[in-house]
Amino acid sequence: MKTSGDTIEIAGAGPAGLAAAITLARAGRGVIVHEAQSEVGHRFKRDLQGLDNWTTRQDVLSVLHDQGITTDFRMRPCREGAAFDAWGRKYVTRSDEPFFYMVERGPGPGTLDTALLHQALYLGVQMRFNSRVRDEQGADIFATGPKKVDAIAIGYHFDTPMADGYWVICDNSLAPQGYAYLLVMGGRGTVKSCMFTGFKQKALYVWRTVSAFERLAGLKMIDPRAHGGVGNFHIPSSACCGAQVLAGEQAGFQDPLWGFGMRAAITSGVLAARSLLEGYDYDRYWRQELEALMSTALVNRTLHSRLGNHGYRWFLRRVENHSDARMLLHRHYRPSGPKRLLALLSAASKRHGALQSEFQR
Ligand SMILES: Cc1cc2nc3c(=O)[nH]c(=O)nc-3n(C[C@H](O)[C@H](O)[C@H](O)COP(=O)(O)OP(=O)(O)OC[C@H]3O[C@@H](n4cnc5c(N)ncnc54)[C@H](O)[C@@H]3O)c2cc1C
Repeated sequence: MKTSGDTIEIAGAGPAGLAAAITLARAGRGVIVHEAQSEVGHRFKRDLQGLDNWTTRQDVLSVLHDQGITTDFRMRPCREGAAFDAWGRKYVTRSDEPFFYMVERGPGPGTLDTALLHQALYLGVQMRFNSRVRDEQGADIFATGPKKVDAIAIGYHFDTPMADGYWVICDNSLAPQGYAYLLVMGGRGTVKSCMFTGFKQKALYVWRTVSAFERLAGLKMIDPRAHGGVGNFHIPSSACCGAQVLAGEQAGFQDPLWGFGMRAAITSGVLAARSLLEGYDYDRYWRQELEALMSTALVNRTLHSRLGNHGYRWFLRRVENHSDARMLLHRHYRPSGPKRLLALLSAASKRHGALQSEFQR
């Protein structure tokens, strides 16, 4: 399938694949993107998601601008919202700059996926829909989404008379080791239980999540449609596979703490493209940009899962008492001395485990 010459082939038209295509096309390269579905954003279809704005001090829209990626999608800057602990206590979260930007995913007008597609087409990228890349030689960049399941987010999309806003509940009985969330923008809503374990009982957790939001946030759903998806995160030893490079969730790039993956997908897509353009070592590129963030988030994930509902309550109190939730979270995601040490210990214990199983073979 792969053509010879200067044309670069990409598998997957998600944020990672399209960001790579845009970067290559801006540099004047010929690009073909193969997308297995008949449209972009097929697995999300009007899902509301948060483009996080706490991992960098620089605003994410300005980061995208610097990366050469469009911000011409509908969005809602979110500065204030409500979080609840497992005992139903409400905590108001506030930040000076947007904490995150609410965006819509899927093939419709105004979505993040459609904006990326339009930019790619404008730059001359050739799209091949209904084109599933099957063999390993089929593309230069693989950006085909999650490979396995580390977390699931499941619930409903719906229409609603509710005002725009966001609400979160941190309670293991609704979302084991994760969180439940409700997002509303422009008369449309998404309610989900985002769980990191306990998948077999997902129907029960979704039911509890909907009931809790009805009680705590006045959730009103019109014409609810079930929706869910999976998330995959790990720090790869290498994101290169022979001559190919992997980007986005296909490589494991995603926030292991709360499952925010759009920024890592876009950033890794841009870096994958740059590595091909400049002949630079991709592994070095993504390690510089993503590894420290991901390993801190992995340490945070271990701490959050161990501390349970009491740990969440402690964290929510800190968020509420802080005048700027964005900056608090920014620090939470930054590698500190103790978190670096925990990350090293965890990596060493994984290596030890791997060595032991090698010996036992
Ligand atoms: C329910 C849910 C809610 C989420 N909420 C958030 C959130 O609030 N904030 C956030 O930042 N992240 C969120 N995420 C994660 C985020 O959506 C993903 O991390 C991000 O979309 C990953 O981008 P990607 O380009 O790597 O993969 P994808 O977006 O999955 O795109 C991969 C594309 O490749 C195509 N494809 C697959 N196989 C092939 C093949 N063999 N050949 C050709 N094409 C192929 C797929 O059809 C798809 O279009 C959420 C995820 C889920 C499931």
